[in-house]
Amino acid sequence: MPRLAGLPRALAGIGLALAAAFAHGADNAGQTGRFVVHRLAQHLYALGEPGYYQKNYSYLFIGKDRALMFDAGANQGEEIIQVIGQLTDKPVSVLPSHLHFDHLGGLPHFSSIYLPDLPFTRSLQRSDGLYQVPEAVHLGQFDNLVLPPFKVERLIQPGQVIDLGGLQLRMLSVPGHTRDEVMLYDQNHDILLTGDHLYPSWLLVGNLDDYLASLDATLQSIDQDTVLYGAHAGDDPNRVPRMDRDEVVKIRDAMQRIRAGQDPGQAFADPELIRRAKLHEVDKGVSILTGIQFTDGREFGY
Ligand SMILES: [Zn+2]
Repeated sequence: MPRLAGLPRALAGIGLALAAAFAHGADNAGQTGRFVVHRLAQHLYALGEPGYYQKNYSYLFIGKDRALMFDAGANQGEEIIQVIGQLTDKPVSVLPSHLHFDHLGGLPHFSSIYLPDLPFTRSLQRSDGLYQVPEAVHLGQFDNLVLPPFKVERLIQPGQVIDLGGLQLRMLSVPGHTRDEVMLYDQNHDILLTGDHLYPSWLLVGNLDDYLASLDATLQSIDQDTVLYGAHAGDDPNRVPRMDRDEVVKIRDAMQRIRAGQDPGQAFADPELIRRAKLHEVDKGVSILTGIQFTDGREFGY
């Protein structure tokens, strides 16, 4: 299990257990990736999928009473539940950063699902009470994924605090990538989980005005010491995607130039996901994509 070799020493025992749990799952490693666990703090783990082409990172907060996953992984298997079971015995809920397929892979395996309380997410509730994410929102056909309808235990209002027992997490609404994008702020430790709003790679703009407004709001709520963790790794898929305020300022400034018409960008394509887009470089590996058309012909945006 070479990917587990890099686990921090404190996790050696867990690494062995995970190796056992994953021993039978080697067949789909290339397609769906496997979870690699990084302990970021006493109460916070990052669950990376470095073998998956989108290099997703999901996060597990553990309080005294409860645990909360931010995103459910890209993997459709039950592995994320197994991984979480190795890390905590507290009851676990999951809050997706938004409703794209690569953040919902393990969602059906959670018994407690939270969603942001937004007109958009409420519109997804069916008459039987279950929530159904349409393909036009989920985009799962890129990976041949279908998300079954699911029960939502709790709707979280923007700005509301989720209390895990000695650990308070404030959910912040940051539309721009999608209209339902949210972040999670750990105010006790000044850690901000940014989902697809901010990570050190290509940022996909769904709505430029919203994105810019959300970046301004983000900058007002963080300082030089705030540590930001995003949902997709940069060049090195084994490195937890971490950013700081200075990088957010650069991204905000670059987006302002785009909106002012001062940066037309370069033509961009990627065989796995993007037929055409405009790429606007920000900084070492960080760029902004606008005018996106996916490889299946769909336009991205709202
Ligand atoms: Zn994503």
